[in-house]
Amino acid sequence: NRQVIFVKRPEGLPKMDSFAWREEAIPTPGEGEVVVRTVYLSVDPYMRGRMNDTKSYVPPFALGEVLQGGVVGRVVASRHNAFAEGDMVLGMLGWQDYSRVNGKHLRKLDPSLAPKSLALGVLGMPGLTAYCGLLKIGEPKAGETVVVSGAAGAVGMIAGQIAKLKGCRVVGIAGSDEKTQYLKDECGFDETINYKTESSMREALRNVCKDGVDIYFDNVGGSLSDDVMQRINKGARIILCGQIAEYNLEKPDLGPRPQTLLLIRSALMKGFIVSDYAHCHDEAIHDLAIWYREGRIKNRETIVHGLEHAVDAFLGLFRGDNIGKQLVQVSDF
Ligand code: NDP
Repeated sequence: NRQVIFVKRPEGLPKMDSFAWREEAIPTPGEGEVVVRTVYLSVDPYMRGRMNDTKSYVPPFALGEVLQGGVVGRVVASRHNAFAEGDMVLGMLGWQDYSRVNGKHLRKLDPSLAPKSLALGVLGMPGLTAYCGLLKIGEPKAGETVVVSGAAGAVGMIAGQIAKLKGCRVVGIAGSDEKTQYLKDECGFDETINYKTESSMREALRNVCKDGVDIYFDNVGGSLSDDVMQRINKGARIILCGQIAEYNLEKPDLGPRPQTLLLIRSALMKGFIVSDYAHCHDEAIHDLAIWYREGRIKNRETIVHGLEHAVDAFLGLFRGDNIGKQLVQVSDF
C-alpha cells in the first residue's frame, strides 16, 4: 500500500521536499470498518492551507502522516453492514492505494446516476461551493453582470455556468487562451479575459464590463481582485470563495483596501466555507444533477494517472495546469 506522507511544512510555494513515500501492507478491516481502494483522488487548493501550522476551519495536516483529501473508491473488504465488496464510495481518505476507515465516514455512490468522478466535482464539494456561494450570497438577477475569477477551475467554471442559467451576463477571468476559449465555446461565458497576457486588467475590465459589476465571484484575490473591485456597482455582492493568489505568500500582500469602495457603493463582501451552507446541500445536489443531466452544465476534468504523480498534480494547481476539476486516477474501477 503506497502512501504519500506530509513531512515538512512548506514556506511559500510547496516543493517536493514536503512529501515522502511510505509503503505498508494492505490493511484489513476491523469491526465496523471498510477497506477502500482509491480510484480518484481530489486535488484541492485548500490543502495548501492545511500545510501551515495555523488555526483554520480544518485542522492542519500532521507531520509524518498520510495526506488526506476527497476520494472516490471501491470497497474491497467490509465489516460494516451498510457496505459490500464492490460498492463505490466517497470519503475523506488518505493519499494512498488503500484506506481502512469506519463505514460511518463513507457515503455510498450510485454509479448509475452519474459518472463516479462527478462526486468530487460538479456533484461534490466544488459544485456545492459554486452553487451556495453564487445563489445564497450573490442572489443573482437576470441581466446582472457577474465576474468570476479562477473561472476555468472546478468551482469557477460551475459558478459561471449557473450564473448563465440565471440569465446573467458572465465574464470569466482565467490564465490561458485555451481556458478562455473553452469558457466561451463550451460554457457559454459572454466575455473572458486572460489575466496572464492582458497588459492592463483595469482597461480590459472597463471594456467588457461597461455597465459595471454586480456580482464578483472571487476565487483568486490579490491585485486581480483589486482591479475588479474598481468596477463594482451600487449594491454589488462580492463572494469571497478563495484567495489562491495569496496562499503561497511568505509576507502578507497589502494592496489597496476595498472598504471605501464597499461603503460608497453600498456593497456586500462575504466570505464563506461550503460547510456553512450544509442546510442547502441537498437542494444544491438536486439542482446540479438536473442541470448536468439536461446538459445545461458542462463538466470538465483534468485527470493525471498514477498516485506517483499526485503531488505534482497538486503543485500544478498553482501553475494553472488544470482546466475544470483536477483529479488523480489511482486505479481502475
Ligand atoms: P481550481 O480548479 O480553480 O484550480 C486552481 C486554479 O487557480 C488554477 O488552475 C489557476 O488557473 C488558478 N490560479 C492559481 N494560482 C493563481 C494565481 N496566483 N493567480 C490567479 N489564479 C491562480 O481550484 P478550485 O476550483 O478547487 O478552487 C478555486 C478556489 O476556490 C480556490 O481559491 C479554493 O481555495 C477555493 N475554494 C473555496 C471553497 C470554500 O468553501 N470557500 C471550497 C472549494 C474551493 P489559471 O490558469 O486561471 O491561473
